[in-house]
Order: sequence, then C-alpha cells, then structure tokens
Amino acid sequence: MHHPPMNEDVDILIVGAGPAGLALAAALADAGLRPLLLEQQSRAALEAAPEDGRDIALTHRARRVMEALGLWQRVPAAEIAPLREARVMDGDSPSTLRFASGGNGADQLGWLIPNHLIRRAALEAALARPTVRLECEARVTALDVNVDAATVTLADGRRLSAPLVVAADSRFSSTRRMAGIGAQMHDFGRSVVVGRVAHSRPNEGIAWECFRYGNTLALLPMNGDQCSAVVTLDSSAAPTWLSLGDDEFAARIEAQTGGRLGSIRAAGPRHHYPLVGVYSHRFAAPRVALIGDAAVGMHPVTAHGYNFGLYGVEVLARELGAAIKSGRDIGALSVLQAFEGEHRRTTLPIYLGTNAVVSLFTDERHPARMLRSAVLAVAERAPGLSGLIKGVITRQLTGGVKAA
Ligand SMILES: Cc1cc2nc3c(=O)[nH]c(=O)nc-3n(C[C@H](O)[C@H](O)[C@H](O)COP(=O)(O)OP(=O)(O)OC[C@H]3O[C@@H](n4cnc5c(N)ncnc54)[C@H](O)[C@@H]3O)c2cc1C
Repeated sequence: MHHPPMNEDVDILIVGAGPAGLALAAALADAGLRPLLLEQQSRAALEAAPEDGRDIALTHRARRVMEALGLWQRVPAAEIAPLREARVMDGDSPSTLRFASGGNGADQLGWLIPNHLIRRAALEAALARPTVRLECEARVTALDVNVDAATVTLADGRRLSAPLVVAADSRFSSTRRMAGIGAQMHDFGRSVVVGRVAHSRPNEGIAWECFRYGNTLALLPMNGDQCSAVVTLDSSAAPTWLSLGDDEFAARIEAQTGGRLGSIRAAGPRHHYPLVGVYSHRFAAPRVALIGDAAVGMHPVTAHGYNFGLYGVEVLARELGAAIKSGRDIGALSVLQAFEGEHRRTTLPIYLGTNAVVSLFTDERHPARMLRSAVLAVAERAPGLSGLIKGVITRQLTGGVKAA
C-alpha cells in the first residue's frame, strides 16, 4: 500500500486527547520526541471539559507521575481531597474491613480529583511543551501499517504518517480494532449512577464501600463536606435512579449510609456509565501501541483506571526515550514489547482480581452472600489474613509495590 510522505516534524501520532493521550504527549516531549495528538472533539470542548461525575482516586505513584509532568500543579489545591482510609461494609453485617495507610510510611492512601479538572490540567500541561502538537476535529477513520511507517486517515480524507501510532481512544478504541488487536470484554450487565452529595457530618477522608443487597454504594470523600456517591446497580434500574428527584436520591443514599454522615442532600447532577471491563489481547504490534483505557479499561470499583493509564505513560515514554537515544526504531516491536511486558505484569493481576471481587460482592445468591460475610468477618479478626489482604490492597493504592 502506498504511504504518504512522513510528516518530518512528527515522531508519534497519538489518537485521542483524553487524560491518557495528553499525559503521554507531555511525557514524550520530555523524552525528546515530537508527538501529534489527533482528537475528534473541538478545541473549545476540550478546554471547557464539563463536570462528568467521575471523581478519580489516585495513588502515590500516580501522583509522582502527575507531578513530574506538571499535571498535579495545575489542579487547584482546594480541589484535591485526601483519601485517608477506606472501609468496606457488607449489608447489615457488623463486620467492617478497614484499609488505612499506617505502617508503610505514607500518611494517606491517596487523593481524589474530579476528572474534568484532570482533563483540563493534562491539556494545559501538554500544550505547555513546544514540541507537542494538537489537531482537533480530527477523527481517525483508518489505519495502515507497513514496514517503515504507520498511516492514519482522518474523516476529512487527510492522511498522516509516522514511525509509531499510539491508540489512546478509550476502552472501545476503534484504532485498536483497526490494528487487528482483539480484547477481552466483560460486560457486567450493570451500571453506575454517580452524583455529588453534601452531608452534615465530616467525612474525615474516609471512603465507604457499602455492599447492600440489590446495589452497592461507594462514597468517595471530597472536600467541603461533600462525597461522590457511586451507586452500582442492574442496568435496568439505572433510568429510575437517574429520574429520581434530588430529595428522593439523597434520602436513598442517607438510608444506605446508616446515618454515618448525618443528613444528606444532592449537590450536583447525576451521570450514568454502563460497566464494561476491557483487557486488550496485546498492548503492542509493529508500529502500534495502546495506552490508557484502550489498553486496560477497568471496572471502577477499585479505582485503578487512570492510575494504570499513568503507569503505562511512564513506562512507554521511558522505553521510547531510551530507544531514540540509542538510535533504534521507536516503532520496532522489540521496543514496544518491553512496555507491553511491564504493563501487563502491573495490570493483569489487578484486572482479574477486581473482576473476581466484583462478582463475589455483587452476587445476590445465598452462597456468595455467605462467603463474602465470611471473608469480611475472618479478614477483620484474623490478623494474618487481614494483614495479607489489606497489605496487598494498601500497597497497591499507595504505589509501594512494583508488581513482580
Ligand atoms: C464512573 C467512573 C469512575 C472512575 N473512577 C476512577 C478512579 O477513581 N480512579 C481511576 O484511576 N480511574 C477511574 N475511572 C477511569 C478513568 O476515568 C479512565 O481510566 C480515564 O478517563 C481514561 O482516559 P483515556 O484518556 O484512556 O480515555 P478517554 O477519557 O475515554 O479519552 C479518549 C479520547 O479519545 C477521543 N477519540 C475516540 N475515538 C477517536 C477517534 N477515532 N479519533 C480521534 N479521537 C478519538 C475521544 O474523543 C476522547 O477524547 C473511572 C471511570 C468511570 C466511568
């Protein structure tokens, strides 16, 4: 197939200027590469990214990556909420499993930041680098790869070539499909309905995960006596929850918290996301790499999605920076496979573990209900088991372990 001449001033085409693609562009610029971002949305839409109901829990490692790229500093400090502790409750069972950061040198588990502020910070940080370019209203519709270049076609017919194309175009990535890379998709058949609530008692930086029969409520502590309420339910029940009046929504949340946060009122619009976990069969092919949700699209319950995106950005930028310095081809499979191997080792155990926990804690059949009560009760009382489970989860949150 005939390829147009390479764009001389572009090393890498990144499809998608979401938080992952933008962070990657910044990291690549710092590694001495010249990326061009292709984004289907308009520039105005990117700059004014609207509140979308997602409040993103970030680990210590994610924070370090964001600081190194100048994203963290671009989020207003008052919008960054500390996550000090996480507690899990199962129905009316008195057992609670607590996760705190104590003992590993970190004074908290992580932080929470609204997604639209991360998007804006990532846009600003990327554009602050003179070697990053962004084309908006540029929807990629085709991808062709040959021995020396990858070429994308845009909806307006233009074609662009570079040694490497990175797909950062969401968990339903069309670039991934066009590259011939399959993905394991797990449709949980459930949805989340998210909305901000204000409460009369302080949240003390504690996140609550309440597994009640019928639905699951997560409360993520935000600043200003507010929480992000995340209700996981059967998709068929989502329209009802979306159409509730504010008072009725707040009353349902208050009932589920057992009054722990005092009286509750709605403090923002509600949003709805169907739950589909996606794990790509490969993160790399000749002249193609996958990043962000296009590589791994997590169920949000363990709050890993964007954290994984940032870990992948760190590793891919490091590998490509090393390749360019030593004069190697950045689109070579051997270069990209180093990224793939490390990213798989970091993400696969947690992807599988998350899906298993979700199944256990949302299965309403009697054996599962008994099993999860037992898991919580035993974990709370047996120091060995509890220490093991909590240690693993806490270290993952604080980024204290590098996955083996
Ligand atoms: C309810 C909810 C809660 C979450 N909570 C957490 C959390 O606590 N912690 C956490 O780490 N993560 C969390 N996540 C996950 C996090 O939001 C995602 O991991 C992150 O937004 C993915 O970023 P991305 O850049 O990969 O993809 P996206 O944000 O989906 O961006 C993809 C971009 O690609 C563009 N695009 C798509 N197709 C094309 C094309 N053909 N051509 C050009 N452009 C294209 C799109 O317009 C978009 O801008 C949560 C997600 C949800 C739904």
